[in-house]
Amino acid sequence: MKGVEYTVALITLEQALGMRTPQVRENSTTYLSTPHAAIQIMLNFDRQYVRAAGTRLWDLDGNEYLDFVSGYGSVNIGHNHPRILETLRRVEEMPKIVQTSLQQLPTALAHNLAQVAPGRLTRCFFCNSGAEAVEGALKITRAATGRPGFISCKGGFHGKTFGALSVSGRPKYQTPFEPLLPGCVQVPYGDLEALENALRKNKAAAFIVEPIQGEGGVITPPAGYLRAARDLCKRYDTLFIADEVQTGMGRTGALFACETEGVEPDVLCLSKSLSGGAVPVGAYLATEEIWKSAYGTYDTALLHSSTFGGYWGNTLACVAALTALEVTLEEDLPARARENGAYFLNELNRLKGVYPLLKDVRGQGLMVGIELADQGKGLLSKLSTGISEKMMGDFGQVSNLVTVELLNSNRVLTVYTLNNPSVVRLYPPLNVDRKDLDYVLESLEKLLSKRKSFLGAATAGVGNVLRSRKRS
Ligand code: PLP
Repeated sequence: MKGVEYTVALITLEQALGMRTPQVRENSTTYLSTPHAAIQIMLNFDRQYVRAAGTRLWDLDGNEYLDFVSGYGSVNIGHNHPRILETLRRVEEMPKIVQTSLQQLPTALAHNLAQVAPGRLTRCFFCNSGAEAVEGALKITRAATGRPGFISCKGGFHGKTFGALSVSGRPKYQTPFEPLLPGCVQVPYGDLEALENALRKNKAAAFIVEPIQGEGGVITPPAGYLRAARDLCKRYDTLFIADEVQTGMGRTGALFACETEGVEPDVLCLSKSLSGGAVPVGAYLATEEIWKSAYGTYDTALLHSSTFGGYWGNTLACVAALTALEVTLEEDLPARARENGAYFLNELNRLKGVYPLLKDVRGQGLMVGIELADQGKGLLSKLSTGISEKMMGDFGQVSNLVTVELLNSNRVLTVYTLNNPSVVRLYPPLNVDRKDLDYVLESLEKLLSKRKSFLGAATAGVGNVLRSRKRS
């Protein structure tokens, strides 16, 4: 049979894989986001990464980089872990998606997650992202309680779909999309009195909270906060949702961060490193009672579902997640995150004592953030007479000079946190070794001790801004 004749020239996979930087930039600028592409180019962040293994990335020219972003915490087991590659080959011939049957892999994954999850979280629902896990969690708690409202924390981040955005805590991301979900109330993170007042007044379906705020700038709450917040929720019949999309799967030194305070959530949200970053995946887990009251009848069973998730999952996500969990436990990654994290935080705190530009060092395990002082704020803006700020928004912060310098002079990949751009996150894969941690510490110290390098980065950035303006 004759196929449809296309009159357009499509890029073949072979051509795509051989594409060089100028064409990638042009496609990105034309078909994706112009400002996003401009910022990548301007900061000289734009490299064609073509290979990855463990903590390392390599670009088209064979340059090697140390990845301290780890897909925002998605690659806890390291890039392309050999066990993940082997496992993906192992299912090569299996169907990748069949919803109309009960399948081995999703049932095994749901079983395993129920075994390792804290408390009595036995029911599992699969999806494809963190925001979807949060949407599912919000829906199940509403359906189970019959209450409409939600309480969440200022500065928190739960994703950018409507429900998740409604409980997130950065007005910049919310305002253009209002009205959001009604009945959402926010309280300061770590403030139990404010939480109790909100619980008393609002009779909310759920309180959703990150055990450590990731995008908020790696904020750890006061000791005992999670435990007490969980108890308060119980007292006011409000369900407790732990959003462990970022803290989960060993990042903070425990498989789940809420275990540190012995907290048993009613619902737990997971994504990012659930599949070791190999395949998009998300999940929420709920207790038997909550699941049953929301979706436990024939009539309610499919009130919530998803093509690639639901109760059937999909082969690639499930097999990657099964393997990632095995690797995490077998390689004892939570303990390694705990030990190496303690070392790293200790050394960073030493730098903080010496260099005033390093305003704060925060974190737990290998979920680490460094906050840069205001000193250099506006530097880029001044040098570019305001152009960079206008063009760069959050990217015009001093934290970006640090990330730019770390990448361009030291080939270390870092990035700021979404809700708090003055904080640079340092999230290596959990099997990072001391040598790599020391290299990043040395790179950082070099940079902190030489204001000149900031100026160099700033000037280069501004030069790029001006050149890209001239071109456009
Ligand atoms: N929840 C938390 C705690 C997150 O950190 C994120 C993403 O950074 C999300 C939810 C949303 O995840 P996604 O970007 O996969 O939708």
